[in-house]
Amino acid sequence: MATPVLRVESLCKSFGGVHAIRDLSFDVNEAQILGLIGPNGSGKSTTVNSLAGLFPITSGAITLAGAKIDNLPEYDRVAKGLSRTFQTASTFTEFTVRDHVVLGCNVTRTSHPLSSVFGIGRKSSEEEDLAARVDRILDITDLTPVQDQRVGTISSAQQRFLMIATALASNPKVILLDEPAAGLVSHERKTLSDLIKKIRDLGTSVLVIEHHMALIMEVCDRIVVLNFGQKIAEGTPEEIRNNPVVIDAYLGEAA
Ligand code: ADP
Ligand code: MG
Repeated sequence: MATPVLRVESLCKSFGGVHAIRDLSFDVNEAQILGLIGPNGSGKSTTVNSLAGLFPITSGAITLAGAKIDNLPEYDRVAKGLSRTFQTASTFTEFTVRDHVVLGCNVTRTSHPLSSVFGIGRKSSEEEDLAARVDRILDITDLTPVQDQRVGTISSAQQRFLMIATALASNPKVILLDEPAAGLVSHERKTLSDLIKKIRDLGTSVLVIEHHMALIMEVCDRIVVLNFGQKIAEGTPEEIRNNPVVIDAYLGEAA
C-alpha cells in the first residue's frame, strides 16, 4: 500500500461567515504528484495556505511524515519538509539567481542565513555540500545559465522556475505549487511538466494546483477536485476526465 507523506483530515477553514474549506480529507503519497483542481473560489489556494501555515485552520488535522504540523508556524513547517510557491512571483530583484537558491537552502541550516550569501565565515565541508546542492537545483530548474544574473533581469518564466528552485532548496518531502503555469507559454509549460516529474522522481512529492488541464492530466498520478470548498471527486486523471460530476461542476466550463 502507498505511504502517505502528507495527510489532510477533515480540514475546515472559515473566514468570518465564509466556509472556504469544509471537511476536506486527502493524502499525498510518497513519490506522488497530486493535482488539486476546481473552479475559481472553490478553495484551492485556501487549502495550500492552510497546509503551509499562512493562517490557523478552523478545525481538522494536517500530518507530515506521521507528525502533526497544523499547530506549527510557517517557518517550522518548511524546516520539517513542507515547502511552497505562491500564485504570484515574489523575489528580491537585486539578488542573483544563485543567492536566492542559497537563501532557500539555509532555511534548514543552523548558521546565519546570509553568511554564505555574503561570504562571511570560512568555507566548511558543509558549505561545499551546499554548493553542490545549489548546482543540482539550478541544473534541474534550467537556471544554470543565468545563475549569476540579478533576479530583476531574468524572464518572468525564469522567475517562476526560480520560485520552484528556492522552494526545493530546503530539501522538502512535499512541495506545494499554486498555479505554477500561470503566464507561461506552451513550450515553457512543457518544461514545467518535465520539471514537476523530475521533482517527483528525485523523491519529493508534489501537490499542484493548476487550471491548465492538459498539464494536470499529463503530470498527475491522482487528482482531487474541489467545488464550494468540498471534495467532489478523487481519482486518476482518466477517472477524473470521465467523471460526470466533475464535468458538470468544472471540466465542462474548462473545456
Ligand atoms: P481558489 O484558489 O480555488 O480560487 P480560494 O481558496 O482563493 O479559491 O477562495 C475560496 C473562498 O474563500 C472564496 O470564497 C474566497 O473569497 C474566500 N477567501 C479566500 N481567502 C480569503 C481571506 N483571506 N479572507 C476572506 N475570504 C477569503
Ligand atoms: Mg487560487
